[in-house]
Amino acid sequence: KVFGDSYRPDYSSVSSIFREFGFGDFFLKNIFDFFGETSFGTRVRTRPETWSIMGDNILKGIKISFKKAAFGVKKDLEYERYEACEKCGGSGSEDGELKNCPVCNGAGEIRTTRQSFFGNVISSRTCSNCRGRGKVIAKPCSQCNGEGRVYKKTKFAMNIPAGVSTGTRLKISGKGNAGIRGGAYGDLYVQIEVTPHKQFVRDGYNIFSKKKITFYEAALGSKVMVETLDGKDEIKIVPGIQSGERIKLKNKGIQHLGRNMRGDHIIEIVVETPKKMTKKEIKLIQEIAKAKGLKVGNGTTNFITKLKKAFKS
Ligand SMILES: [Zn+2]
Ligand SMILES: [Zn+2]
Repeated sequence: KVFGDSYRPDYSSVSSIFREFGFGDFFLKNIFDFFGETSFGTRVRTRPETWSIMGDNILKGIKISFKKAAFGVKKDLEYERYEACEKCGGSGSEDGELKNCPVCNGAGEIRTTRQSFFGNVISSRTCSNCRGRGKVIAKPCSQCNGEGRVYKKTKFAMNIPAGVSTGTRLKISGKGNAGIRGGAYGDLYVQIEVTPHKQFVRDGYNIFSKKKITFYEAALGSKVMVETLDGKDEIKIVPGIQSGERIKLKNKGIQHLGRNMRGDHIIEIVVETPKKMTKKEIKLIQEIAKAKGLKVGNGTTNFITKLKKAFKS
């Protein structure tokens, strides 16, 4: 169980533990006053428990795509949970009749008497069979065996808002398990897992991608098409751009969860050196290089291999 556990101290068992360790009644009175239980002296009473028990929460994980997380999506959720029994309306009773609890004889509590310095101390604890009610169902519902709820498949369409990310937990009130004997429904928590995108990497509400451009485009400047969340977009390459430089597309990132604003899309430029060139290309580049006084090869790997051998010998 992840959610829905509640804790309430049982004072009668606490007092017996303290007695075992030799603490007196005066100490216990102060302890109970401290915890808000003031009826010590003749009775130590625990609060009566309620008849119905609230349903547990449910945690469900779902996977959605990168783009659906960015823009939001309506998704059909199918899962199993306890729902109120239709036959008995959640009461757990076949015919609505109640009878006295056989464990406590209808008192709702079980009393024990102990001797103490101040006289008899009567302590009582809530009857666990009837949970303090004194009555139990005479004939349990045949559909739910008296629990007032049945386990079944359920389905509903939920809106996943734009901007969710892996680890986001959405709460849907009342979509958890039905309680026992008419107890309220718990909540459903949907935990999001976003599948990675082929090109985009997300960091908060910003996204990153890489764009390869040619050596010529980098040197001379250009306009190139890039993939964005909203489709293709044209970006300007300034002449002399370097590999690793970044271009920011403002408000092209992911929408902030619950806010009407978007992050940015940052594109990292990767300049590709030409690998295969025509003879004409090689000749032109060689001319430029020679004009700059650079020692360059002839554009084939043969030259490099020869160069390496020359260094080794
Ligand atoms: Zn029923
Ligand atoms: Zn009882």
